[in-house]
Amino acid sequence: AKKAGRSSWRFYDPSLQQETYEAILLTNSLRRVLERGELSLHYQPQLLPDGRTIVGFEALLRWHSPEYGQVSPLRFIPLAEKSGLITPIGQWVLEETCRFVKRLSALGWDDLHVAVNISPKQLLACNFVSRIRTIIETAQIKPKQIVLEVTESVLIESLEQSVEKMQQLHDFGVALALDDFGTGYSSLTYLKSLPVDILKIDKSFIDKNCTDHDQRQLVASMIELGHALNLTIVAEGVETEPQLELLQQYGCDCIQGYIFSKPLPEQAALAFLEQKRKK
Ligand code: C2E
Ligand code: CA
Ligand code: CA
Ligand code: CA
Repeated sequence: AKKAGRSSWRFYDPSLQQETYEAILLTNSLRRVLERGELSLHYQPQLLPDGRTIVGFEALLRWHSPEYGQVSPLRFIPLAEKSGLITPIGQWVLEETCRFVKRLSALGWDDLHVAVNISPKQLLACNFVSRIRTIIETAQIKPKQIVLEVTESVLIESLEQSVEKMQQLHDFGVALALDDFGTGYSSLTYLKSLPVDILKIDKSFIDKNCTDHDQRQLVASMIELGHALNLTIVAEGVETEPQLELLQQYGCDCIQGYIFSKPLPEQAALAFLEQKRKK
């Protein structure tokens, strides 16, 4: 609605009200997730295209609410962003991820990285860089074992500031990935000036990869472009053998998707690693 006041009845929409009401309830519940221990991380393996070597994981947040059951991050992350709760939640995600990385190292897996999703609000918070340093130093892990995934939306919000933060993080030694590449702003001119190491091609491109000739060319060009800029290319949401074969053919560096594994709880992620080690 444009203006509150006498004319606001004209915008009355029951479904909108329903949506708002649910959002309020969820946000209220979200306030207690940390103290009540309702969050967990699942880890989705990222493999070389041959499917034999694991190079890392992406940490994905899960919320099991006693009131609402399993709530998708697609639903609650935006609410956490709006309410400011993304700051403590994002902090928890980073600490938990570093603990997992530490555990991997203790088991002899010290070349693996774990990627963490960072929302624009988090990245732009004034003390984000020093906080990351503290978390990584406290956990006693190597900065390069952590990949921070940012989406293009942060660049639209505040290009100069984001680039500055990303540069500082990069100087500290963490790796940076541009997530959901191709879905947003995607200007080729800024890509060159960003301190990113990894491009993640969005699932929507992978989906159409096999059915449509133009889409296929697009994916091939994205990989070519990324390589010309010295970037590592990760394809996400790879589900089928034909999709995988095309990506292998195009020289994609890394594959993440159900074809190899869904996101796994910590214990299952470790079991997945052990199983690969034996082969
Ligand atoms: P994303 O960063 O693009 O993560 C990839 C999503 O694709 C994940 O959904 C993953 O489970 C799903 N996926 C991976 N492979 C396949 C596949 O082969 N097929 C299909 N159908 N899906 C696949 P998920 O876990 O539901 O997360 C959704 C989004 O929520 C993420 O998208 C990310 O934007 C956000 N998110 C998740 N965890 C966090 C977090 O800790 N912090 C922030 N800020 N955002 C998060
Ligand atoms: Ca991601
Ligand atoms: Ca993504
Ligand atoms: Ca995505």
